[in-house]
Amino acid sequence: MKGALLGCGFFAENQMKAWQSLPGVEIAAVCDPDPARRERFQKAFGVTQAFAEARELLEQCRLDFVDIAAPTPTHEALVRLAADHGVDIICQKPFAGSPDRAKSLIEYCAQKGVSLSIHENFRFQYAVREVIRRVRNDEIGTPFFGRISYRNGFDVYKSQPYLARAERFIIEDLGIHVLDIARALFGDVHRLSCETSRINPDIVGEDVATLMLRHDNGATSIVDCSYATHLTPDPFPQTLIDIDGAKGSLRLTADARLYLHTREGCETHRVEVSAPDWSTPPWTIIQESVVAFQAHWLECRRAGVEADTSGRDNYNTLALVEAAYEAADRHTVVMPERWS
Ligand code: NAD
Repeated sequence: MKGALLGCGFFAENQMKAWQSLPGVEIAAVCDPDPARRERFQKAFGVTQAFAEARELLEQCRLDFVDIAAPTPTHEALVRLAADHGVDIICQKPFAGSPDRAKSLIEYCAQKGVSLSIHENFRFQYAVREVIRRVRNDEIGTPFFGRISYRNGFDVYKSQPYLARAERFIIEDLGIHVLDIARALFGDVHRLSCETSRINPDIVGEDVATLMLRHDNGATSIVDCSYATHLTPDPFPQTLIDIDGAKGSLRLTADARLYLHTREGCETHRVEVSAPDWSTPPWTIIQESVVAFQAHWLECRRAGVEADTSGRDNYNTLALVEAAYEAADRHTVVMPERWS
């Protein structure tokens, strides 16, 4: 399978290395308007062709898919262009910038007969996959409560300086992943409330958010995120999860242990990831999840089925982000939109 990577920035490097580690797929071209970035990628990863413009790339290369790792404001133009050229599309989160724009792009891809998947990788982290598997396997019975927590004091602005300038920060950039995990665990959300704060005075948006979600299945979950929490050791980039179900409870802790409590007692499972050989701590669990997501996408593409994080699925995660900002703004409970 032949693909092109659109965007040669900070995170694209993980995507590139993950593609190179997977069998039967080749990144035949890269594109970035920044010459230094595209030339670095071309040289470092031995890519045949590099372009400044996606249009030129799509006109000259015969491809099966594009992998868009460029910022959100580029998504609309790049997705339409790729769909016009009949290639399948993977696009980074946060997709499209608004649920309305996302909806029109999802519909456009469907009209053009190309698949659209979102690179939503947190639910593919090994430890998170293990929690999802055990819940779906009915090991704790029907869940009635969850807490999905992402709190650390990591200097995220160093590798992603644009985050310090974003008006919408932690919910849109990071909370989106945690909300997606909540959906993967408990399903879609009927209503939610949210409070936010900005603790770091040097940034524009919110760096702390606390949400309460009522899911369609009756479960309540708390999603809480902070980049202003000082802990030693710093748990970045781990997501910690507590789930209570009718037959038992699961606790995913910062020491990469998953505790399964039932009436019979407690089992402890190590959920340490086997790191890709190119991984660089502390990013290991994220980098492994990129490989896992891309492997899942390839498997789905070959089987002709939608990826778990298809555009349509991701619409309902995006809608939670939108609802969270509205709830925080109006200090009220909001019923999120959903794909129909
Ligand atoms: P970045 O600024 O480092 O890289 C973006 C690159 O896209 C830049 O090199 C830029 O020149 C290029 N670009 C801009 N317009 C383009 C266009 N029209 N065509 C091709 N390339 C173009 O940003 P980043 O930190 O790598 O983030 C990129 C995306 O990845 C964002 O959407 C971000 O939210 C996402 N991201 C996801 C994760 C994750 O865990 N899934 C983590 C970090 C970033």
